[in-house]
Amino acid sequence: MKNCFLVDEWNIIEDHYNHENNMISESILSLGNGHMGMRGNFEEDFSGKSLKGTYIAGVYYPDKTRVGWWKNGYPEYFAKVLNAVNFIGIKVKINGEILDIESSNIKDFKRQLNMKEGSLNRSFTFIDSLNRETKIEVKRFLSMKDKEIAAISYSLTPINHDSNIELIPYLDGNIYNQDSNYDEMFWNIDSIESKPYYSNIKMTTKKLDFLVFAAMGYDILLNNNLANTSPSVIKDEKLCGNKISMKVKSKEKLTLNKYIAISSNRYYDNNIIDNKINNLLSYAKSKGFTELYNENVECWDEIWKESDIVIKGDARAQQAIRFNIFQLNQTYTGDDTRLNIGPKGFTGEKYGGSTYWDTEAYCLPFYLSTRESAISKNLLIYRYNQLDKAVENAKKLGLSGALYPMVTMNGEECHNEWEITFEEIHRNGAIAYAIYNYINYTNDLDYLPKYGLEVLIQISRFWASRVNYNKYKDNYMILGVTGPNEYENNVNNNWYTNTMAAWCLEYTIKSINLIKEKYPSDYKLIIDKLDITDKEILKWQDITNKMYFPFNKIDNVFEQQDGYMDKEQLLVKDINPKDLPLNKNWSWDKILRSPFIKQADILQGIYFLGDKFDIETKKRNFDFYEPRTVHESSLSPCIYSIIASQIGYHAMAYKLYLRTARLDLDNYNKDTDDGLHITSMAGSWMSIVHGFGGLNIKDSVLCLNPFIPTEWDEYSFKLYFREHLLNIKVSKNIINIIQEEGSSFKINVLNKDYYINSNDSISINY
Ligand code: BGC
Repeated sequence: MKNCFLVDEWNIIEDHYNHENNMISESILSLGNGHMGMRGNFEEDFSGKSLKGTYIAGVYYPDKTRVGWWKNGYPEYFAKVLNAVNFIGIKVKINGEILDIESSNIKDFKRQLNMKEGSLNRSFTFIDSLNRETKIEVKRFLSMKDKEIAAISYSLTPINHDSNIELIPYLDGNIYNQDSNYDEMFWNIDSIESKPYYSNIKMTTKKLDFLVFAAMGYDILLNNNLANTSPSVIKDEKLCGNKISMKVKSKEKLTLNKYIAISSNRYYDNNIIDNKINNLLSYAKSKGFTELYNENVECWDEIWKESDIVIKGDARAQQAIRFNIFQLNQTYTGDDTRLNIGPKGFTGEKYGGSTYWDTEAYCLPFYLSTRESAISKNLLIYRYNQLDKAVENAKKLGLSGALYPMVTMNGEECHNEWEITFEEIHRNGAIAYAIYNYINYTNDLDYLPKYGLEVLIQISRFWASRVNYNKYKDNYMILGVTGPNEYENNVNNNWYTNTMAAWCLEYTIKSINLIKEKYPSDYKLIIDKLDITDKEILKWQDITNKMYFPFNKIDNVFEQQDGYMDKEQLLVKDINPKDLPLNKNWSWDKILRSPFIKQADILQGIYFLGDKFDIETKKRNFDFYEPRTVHESSLSPCIYSIIASQIGYHAMAYKLYLRTARLDLDNYNKDTDDGLHITSMAGSWMSIVHGFGGLNIKDSVLCLNPFIPTEWDEYSFKLYFREHLLNIKVSKNIINIIQEEGSSFKINVLNKDYYINSNDSISINY
């Protein structure tokens, strides 16, 4: 489905109603503000294919596990972000005929996701059975300023007739999750209330007692002046609203401005939430649509000032990166340490809205560079706060230390496929790496004694208990794992897992020594609390020294795992294109026996620990593994793109960048209807900043190694780095760096040191 949306630098535009691909459009046109989000559903009744989805951050449901064959250690439930009250609904009747985009006669349909302003806009003309035309214009947004407020402006203009228009703005609590394991409804309706100009609904989850309270109000305007109406009240067990009937003359414009305030008992106690939300609704109504909208635009202006990447000369690439940045900012705003980033954000139900290693491995770098460091620190603290649960999790498996879950809402594992739940233990490596990455980037050393070291120590303990010593080889092994490449399970000595485990033990030892020297009193507290002995540390050292790393001597590359080279060495180019994606066309058995790699595995390790490998090593491994990789995880092409940039394969890096950045816009993996690939969007950003821009921090020095893809005339981006804010512009022959905030400091560009003063800039010809 390429080019379903028009190419535009700031907008995603659909210029016709796409009956077949409506669910893809619903995903692409999602809105969010970090606290809530929704798919691009229509306000009116709709009989076409749709996943109606509204999600409130942190409100989830522990849906009883469903598996074929129970295995000890499986979690009891899979946490799911809940589809919550539908608050956008407006039923529309024009001259007695129901408006339904799927079945009505419409023309000039256009939808536009305005990424600059954070709104979804729609216009079309409805033609009734007597050929009378009514123009409809709709705008909606979720406020970035007041995160519990949403507003919709819905206008109708009869063009060639005097019309009877009936509108029913409503709240609908009759909601189910499409991915419910036992087709259960997850909500109880506690109360429902409706009177003229106001309705509310209070709902509680059947387990965990999450309570959501939503209230709506509205104004009716005729030609922009408040109109006199006598609404009647609509109310049944689960739906409440008002019915407004108006006579509207030809060319007159009737507008319904609907305001919604909504929140959960994660933020307000049950006994005050009604008051709080009702007050917020009054506040929203008194401000009015335009002022609320303008405030939302101001917030987006600030976000774009910090996180935009400007590309000149390539509108498709520009649109794509803005779409990625927009969605990331819609998903996570970083003001609540209990929240995290689900792989689909607020755009669908797959992956349950839970937290994966994606956050640490992919998303963290984006927030580190585009927002002040407190935001990424909150992402790390989320894991710190769940350390006890990770310790319990390891214990359940008969191991020591902490095993962080593969999938979680509250720190408990809620994934239930043995090859992932028990075996995809490499996630622990990414969580340790994120601590290193954060400290290395921000220089916030205090993080280590306060939070980071305990996590590192417990993760190291886990590795020490999970390895086994092979006395014949005098090596430590990690057996029975699944690496990032999920197209192989239960393998021995996955190179990536072993490499990250050894790295992690080494970094923990270094960190302990550093804290001993720089924070002696914290050191003592931590050592006592966790009961660490010299013997334990010596053991960790022994494991790092003697870790086994499989190597393919014939091709002179790391071997993905023991036995990888026993497979028939086919390449992706040998696969019949009709068989792609493999996960939709091949049996799982065939996939497991094939040499095809789902996503960056060895390359993921080479990316994380890049400074340990020379260019020739990176090249050899890229040349060997890329032709075997099907990139059927959205997380894959970005890592390959970055390594391609590093080894000078610029055209390849660009091609892989487009694949990652336009993954959803062009529906590459044929699954955008399920929701967007939010976490891999951070990978798109990395492909530009870490890949094309060559960003790296070496010995506390910010290093850039930029090139420009031949298709582009220029690109620029901003970087927060410690107390500095930089604006970096790369053109064909010149690199320009402006220091917008911060004092004089050293920077390395193309392997040469420079100093930039505050409010100054440097230009480098290359
Ligand atoms: C990938 C995992 C990832 C998950 C969620 C899977 O397809 O293989 O690495 O964590 O998706 O994005």
